[in-house]
Amino acid sequence: MADDADVIVVGGGLAGLVAATEIADAGKRVIVVDQEGEQSLGGQAFWSFGGLFLVDSPEQRRLGINDSYDLALQDWMGTAGFDRDDDHWPKRWAEAYVAFAAGEKRAWLRAMGHRIFPVVGWAERGGYDAMGHGNSVPRFHVTWGTGPGIVEPFVRRAREAQEKGLLTFRFRHRVDTLMTRSGAVEGVGGSVLEPDHVERGKSSSRKVIGDFTLRAQAVIVASGGIGGNHDLVRQNWPKRLGEPPKHMISGVPEHVDGRMIGITEAAGARLINRDRMWHYVEGIRNWNPIWPRHGIRILPGPSSMWFDATGKRLPAPLFPGSDTLGQLEYIMGTGYDYSWFILTQSIIKKEFALSGSEQNPDLTGKSWRMTIRRATSKGAPAPVEAFKQNGADFIVRNDLGELVGAMNALVGNDLLRLDHIKAQIEARDREISNPYVKDAQVMNLHNARRYIGDRLIRTATPHRILDPVHGPLIAVKLNILTRKTLGGFETDLDSRVFGTDRQIIKGLYAAGEAAGFGGGGVHGYRSLEGTFLGGCLFSGRNAGRAAAKAAG
Ligand SMILES: Cc1cc2nc3c(=O)[nH]c(=O)nc-3n(C[C@H](O)[C@H](O)[C@H](O)COP(=O)(O)OP(=O)(O)OC[C@H]3O[C@@H](n4cnc5c(N)ncnc54)[C@H](O)[C@@H]3O)c2cc1C
Repeated sequence: MADDADVIVVGGGLAGLVAATEIADAGKRVIVVDQEGEQSLGGQAFWSFGGLFLVDSPEQRRLGINDSYDLALQDWMGTAGFDRDDDHWPKRWAEAYVAFAAGEKRAWLRAMGHRIFPVVGWAERGGYDAMGHGNSVPRFHVTWGTGPGIVEPFVRRAREAQEKGLLTFRFRHRVDTLMTRSGAVEGVGGSVLEPDHVERGKSSSRKVIGDFTLRAQAVIVASGGIGGNHDLVRQNWPKRLGEPPKHMISGVPEHVDGRMIGITEAAGARLINRDRMWHYVEGIRNWNPIWPRHGIRILPGPSSMWFDATGKRLPAPLFPGSDTLGQLEYIMGTGYDYSWFILTQSIIKKEFALSGSEQNPDLTGKSWRMTIRRATSKGAPAPVEAFKQNGADFIVRNDLGELVGAMNALVGNDLLRLDHIKAQIEARDREISNPYVKDAQVMNLHNARRYIGDRLIRTATPHRILDPVHGPLIAVKLNILTRKTLGGFETDLDSRVFGTDRQIIKGLYAAGEAAGFGGGGVHGYRSLEGTFLGGCLFSGRNAGRAAAKAAG
């Protein structure tokens, strides 16, 4: 039977788009199949903040940051903590990916019109030793235009390929099976879903109106992770992080359902590191939700005081923005699945950013005027103020006693004691009048402010939390927010998938989150941030190029 294309790509998210455009650029015919409608093209990346991990970039150098491949690799390996036999390919991907981030990544994107906001962010700052978790220096480069800005060049290239007749989209086509013959993958089969014009990101109908099969020499699985499927998240939850949370909110749309992972496994693919995941602990319920259980992650600056559900301050170095999984492990160890920030108006104004393209209209809309207002206005950015006023997890009071009372009322218990909270805040406040102190979080503030980017837009001038001049006081209840799947299908550097017999499955490739962003888990246990979009770019590119070459 004649093939419908040279290659079929399952998933029109960033990884799938990158792979498909590389295939078309090589002059091969490709079909992109996606269960969602055309309006959702780009998948999660559209909603993303567009943060990219780059090493020794011109943006870093302009800000006086000395970075290098060696320093970045040291950070990556200290963060990943690779320790399994299954980490052979993930580790090789990590070395190759850091080289990409220190090499051609920026120039490759720039040639497609991609641009970067000039102030580089400092995510996952660690706080252990030089070989431990975290970024030694700021490396989080925000795309000018955020998520839509990273998707746009690939959609443009895909449309050009469509016009040339090399690329075809099949929207509302849900893959239910991979077709194999003698162990080789030769196509996909599935259901045609009824047309649905819901807004991008909203849950779409799953009503089946037909079926389809498509044949090709190769299939690339780029179907994303499992973060929208809380049952799967709980099922794969690692013991080292305690019991799975009873209550979670979703940082991803419902189409991140993990269904295609099981389908690909059923075709013999080897899924590794399924217990590695990247969920956030600073999730807030969206007062204006787009998808079910929609939560937003606060990207916090370093000054908020962080308390567990019982009112105990989180231990050093678990400060805001330091070690996401360390915090998750600590919080789950308390027996409760939430925690609290207490901060001031001065801190929220300078330090709260919300992850997501729709929460950053200034950067997403590429408006310098609005972006400059973020730094100069009296209040916090408008989306943050909107959360402060409407968000179910925000409490604003002038008096600490009233604040603590409202915090207890919000969760319906009396775990927080005013005298306990007050003593910890007052003790921290006594450390503020000297630039050399023993409180590790306050030390951390002084360290952060030596970096010009933090001093300008990310770290408030150190002040007493209980100084009314900086008020009102704000408490934020922080929920566990599902997001990324770090494990995935084991692949070689050409993104070819291994089978359970440890042999390459002919005709099968995997890219993006489905491949653990490369190899089956390029991050190991933890991420340095900005590495997910980058992992989709790199693994999508490798998959596309290799599949096109193999198509002869
Ligand atoms: C709010 C938010 C902020 C983020 N911020 C950042 C950031 O700043 N930096 C960063 O590096 N990362 C960030 N990320 C993560 C990053 O966006 C994702 O990890 C990445 O975009 C995943 O891309 P993907 O192509 O692998 O999968 P997806 O985007 O999930 O795309 C997969 C596609 O496959 C389709 N599909 C699934 N199953 C099937 C099936 N059976 N049949 C047909 N189609 C199917 C889906 O409909 C979907 O369109 C963020 C994510 C979110 C949600």
